[in-house]
Amino acid sequence: MTTRRDELAASLDEVRRRIGRACAAVNRDPGSVTLVAVTKTYPASDVVLLAGLGVTDVGENKDQEAAAKAAAVDEPLRWHFVGQLQRNKAKSVVTYADVVESVDSMRLAGALSTAAARLRERPLDVLVQVSIDGDPARGGAIDGAAEPDRDLWRVAAAVQEAEGLRLGGVMAVAPRGWEPARAFADLAGLAERLRADHPDATVVSAGMSGDLEDAVRYGATHVRIGTSLLGMRNTLR
Ligand SMILES: *Cc1c(COP(=O)(O)O)cnc(C)c1O
Repeated sequence: MTTRRDELAASLDEVRRRIGRACAAVNRDPGSVTLVAVTKTYPASDVVLLAGLGVTDVGENKDQEAAAKAAAVDEPLRWHFVGQLQRNKAKSVVTYADVVESVDSMRLAGALSTAAARLRERPLDVLVQVSIDGDPARGGAIDGAAEPDRDLWRVAAAVQEAEGLRLGGVMAVAPRGWEPARAFADLAGLAERLRADHPDATVVSAGMSGDLEDAVRYGATHVRIGTSLLGMRNTLR
């Protein structure tokens, strides 16, 4: 009988093979790419199984679900928050997240800073989520935003200066309808500009189940994989 553990072990092997092949194609060390297992909609029991199989980093995109799962799982994992975050959830998120990958405004950085300074012993790692196509209707800070609060460089500077936060780098999702390679090439350029001002901001979180190869080719240090590891989600999120 095939157990859930067998299933997850097989899909994890396949994802690791994909990362390995993508690294080999551009002469990168596979150890330079961290796999973040995006476990949203899947139970805490899957998180425990993945941890047992060697997964070190997990991602969630809803505060309530993430808080409950993090409380239910004892394994020493790094919890990444990758979803859209309302400022009133900052106090909750800073209590269980190790990394918030989706900071896209100075106001959100401010709320996280206040909460992190009060409620955490160690600084919270923050990635600035970048909107690659600059569409203000969707998530992400923008290179040259009309609205200062959403300007990529101002958001990065705000995180850098904020008490309780540590600027780790950037995160992005390839915009719908874009060639992922083109999106990740653009992201690599923005990440390089960010490192010129903030040399420690080395993280590039890019690539999901459908486009991890393109992300690795353009320098992703973290890939966020849900479907290819855990299976299709039956909710639209
Ligand atoms: C759900 C999600 C992922 C994982 O997507 P898959 O296509 O299932 O691998 C990655 N990043 C973010 C921000 C997500 O919300």
